Amino acid sequence: MSQSHLSFYSAQPWQLCETQYDPEQLSLSETLFAQANGYLGSRGGFEEGGADSNNACYLNGVYCLQPITYGEKAYGYASHNERMVTVPNGKLIELYVDGERFSLEQGTIIDYQRSLDFRNAVLERRLTWRSPAGKTVQITSRRLVSLDDKHLCVIEYQVTALDFSGDLRLVSTLECQLPEAPADHGDDPRAGSAVSRLDIELERCDGVDEKVLLLQRIHSSGFSIASGVTHRLLSEGPYQMSRSNSANGAQIQYECTVSEGQQLCLTKYLAYFSDQHSDSVDSLTSLDAYLDQVSAQNFDHYCALQSKTLDAFWSTSDVTVEGDPSLQQGLRFNLLQLFQSVGRDGKTNIAAKGLSGDGYDGHYFWDTEIYILPFFLYSQPQLARRLLEYRYHILDAARQRARQMAFSKGALFPWRTIGGNECSAYYPAGTAQYHINADIAYAVKRYHEATEDMAFMRDYGAEIVLDSARIWIELGCFDQQQRFCINTVTGPDEYTALVNNNFYTNVMAKTHLDYAVQLCRWLADEEPDAWAALKEKLALEDDEPKAWADAAEAMYLPFDERLGIHCQDDSFLTKKVWDFANTSEEKYPLLLHYHPLVIYRHQVCKQADVVLALLLRSELFSQEQKKRDFDYYEAVTTHDSTLSACIHSIIASEVGYLDKAQDYFREVARMDLDNHHNNTQYGLHTASMGGTWMCMVYGFAGLRVEDNQLSFAPCLPEGMQGYSFRLAFKERVLEVRVSGQADSVEVNYRLVRGAAITIHDRGEAVELLPE
Ligand code: BGC
Repeated sequence: MSQSHLSFYSAQPWQLCETQYDPEQLSLSETLFAQANGYLGSRGGFEEGGADSNNACYLNGVYCLQPITYGEKAYGYASHNERMVTVPNGKLIELYVDGERFSLEQGTIIDYQRSLDFRNAVLERRLTWRSPAGKTVQITSRRLVSLDDKHLCVIEYQVTALDFSGDLRLVSTLECQLPEAPADHGDDPRAGSAVSRLDIELERCDGVDEKVLLLQRIHSSGFSIASGVTHRLLSEGPYQMSRSNSANGAQIQYECTVSEGQQLCLTKYLAYFSDQHSDSVDSLTSLDAYLDQVSAQNFDHYCALQSKTLDAFWSTSDVTVEGDPSLQQGLRFNLLQLFQSVGRDGKTNIAAKGLSGDGYDGHYFWDTEIYILPFFLYSQPQLARRLLEYRYHILDAARQRARQMAFSKGALFPWRTIGGNECSAYYPAGTAQYHINADIAYAVKRYHEATEDMAFMRDYGAEIVLDSARIWIELGCFDQQQRFCINTVTGPDEYTALVNNNFYTNVMAKTHLDYAVQLCRWLADEEPDAWAALKEKLALEDDEPKAWADAAEAMYLPFDERLGIHCQDDSFLTKKVWDFANTSEEKYPLLLHYHPLVIYRHQVCKQADVVLALLLRSELFSQEQKKRDFDYYEAVTTHDSTLSACIHSIIASEVGYLDKAQDYFREVARMDLDNHHNNTQYGLHTASMGGTWMCMVYGFAGLRVEDNQLSFAPCLPEGMQGYSFRLAFKERVLEVRVSGQADSVEVNYRLVRGAAITIHDRGEAVELLPE
């Protein structure tokens, strides 16, 4: 069970702000102050670096390949890991005050403040520092990773000599990282991998004057990375510029002579371009020209653009909560970080840690479709489309994996990946999670319903759903009672592995197969040419849809009559219940203290499994059933995964446990801000961030999409005075406002944009008309 920490950051609705420098919090705050634009990610470390700092920059989808070394190998094991790489860090700017190097580790910090503003995603630090020799400077740095131009990051670094006349020297660097030392995170699988192969070569280092241009090649994966910086200095005193090249890059140095009260301001422009198996970034000439072009504008220009982009984002994506600024801050922080992290080009996705750290090696998981996509689908549907296009992009790799896994046809999506190959070295909690196929199909179905984007369905969606549905037929079989069973799989709960008939998997496979059958009919009726082409492309046989319908119809959903609950799988309820009473706090998370086999033979869940199925197929289960299942499984769940608390909050809301729902929600909303799982230093928890949105919208507001219509059942937990959000649905934008008291909830629905629509409020139809 997670530990709670006293928050280090004051609760403010539109920013994350620290007013104290604490070296102990350095790697945590580097994650929290991370900035990104879906392509370029930058951890929030200081310009001048710092002790133990991992002030890395990453590019979404850019990875190296590392062979996975197994002590004992078997056929079909994942052979290579795709590991997100760190790209040259261009954020470094060192300051020397009359010869003394500025560092927060020495001298005196007179005042200090660092903040991330949720309205423009600018990271700003203001501080006053006195050097050991007694010279005082004021430093203000501002940094942004452009949300309008994915290649660009801009830093403005201002220094004022407050009480002396003398020299100020700035040394600005762009350098490739020194070879990475193998990281050692002990037994923690959530951290990045422990080995790194040094196959990233610096091919060229160019540039003249204030410009540095680097070209790197990752041999194992065929990526080229071009990175560059240029500068503009404004100084009230005279200065001299010089440059020095090193084996890893170059430094630009400015030596300025200032009088008391004078200021200098350096603007640094950083740019990154990348490509795979192509020579499109080989020419540093275009990077050179790009830097000339972007450096014609100052920081304020980019800041204004950024505010505009975020105004548009917040206008459909904000969720307000009245009465608790710490929850409001957590919510907005999480939504902003999701927006910063999400890949926008259809070829990249959103990593479990976003672009904020190298935990889980930068891999994409089912987290996307089940936890994160709902937020984008109902607020920025075009981004949800991009996430699904990514699955299409890796469909060929999924087909190859299916062949390797003995399926004669169809596609099997990898459990964790960047470029499309299965990267899970531990198949019991990796490849065995076949439910990933159904999760992706489920997300396509939701997208289809909410957007009616027929072009997407015709060009991508149907192919993803149909080809990935095929594996269920060969994976499962009919038993003697003619029930369709799916054996030797792992469900979402990673504390139970390789079981028969995982309830979640079977429910989701059934949903997938039914939807595939519907899609065949729809395509045949509406898009006969596309249907003929798809049938040919997939070599789909006429009897396949019938086989899918039969399997779905006969799908076995295990139920225990004695307890009146769904069985997580065939064996779960026969196991010994974990001895929670005699397990001390420090033994959690269990995965760090017990061999998997010890955990697997007990009734203990890491995360929502049956309880998640109750949410995703809500309409199939009665309230009483949900309550019985929730009561049973919650009692054996440790929530050792950050994917758990949000789902428990939602179902707790639905079955009337509002206090519990609120407690879980508090944890989810501030999961990273309060470092509840003690590992935010490796990166943010993007699934839980998506879960925050779901807690509000699916949980407290009770949104369910049934029969292609929206239905709500809003409630208000104690202490929350109200909340509101907007939803994009079928080319409309709706606004939902909830206020009042826990026992007398008032709800206001408004159609902000689009044609009239009927929704349901606690079972009653409500017609919403244009204003
Ligand atoms: C969870 C998985 C999740 C992964 C990445 C694990 O701890 O058990 O369900 O996909 O983290 O977030």
